[in-house]
Amino acid sequence: MTCHEAEGMILPYINKRLKDEDMEGFLNHVLHCESCMEELEIYFTVDYGIRRLDDDEGTYNIKEALFQNIDSSLEHIKKVHILTVFRYVMTTLSTMGIIIIFLLQLRIWWQTGIF
Ligand SMILES: [Zn+2]
Repeated sequence: MTCHEAEGMILPYINKRLKDEDMEGFLNHVLHCESCMEELEIYFTVDYGIRRLDDDEGTYNIKEALFQNIDSSLEHIKKVHILTVFRYVMTTLSTMGIIIIFLLQLRIWWQTGIF
């Protein structure tokens, strides 16, 4: 991912509109690219500041809030990966099941002399 692409994803990320398939690449880039991380911090700080002004809470540890946000996004990606693997496993198992049922049916037809 280029810095230009990552910068385009900062606002969707902050607004929680970034697609799951883009999230991993975005976070990997941002965690390893100082200038994009800086950019993300700026946008996050502004967004966070506006939200906190509304609910008037005393905590202003924005950097920690950003890293908590990134952590929960990474956790989310992990869950999506697990669900994807689970879906592949279930698809494979059900396909194998259908093939086995079909082969057994063929055997029954063969034994009863239909073939
Ligand atoms: Zn970058």
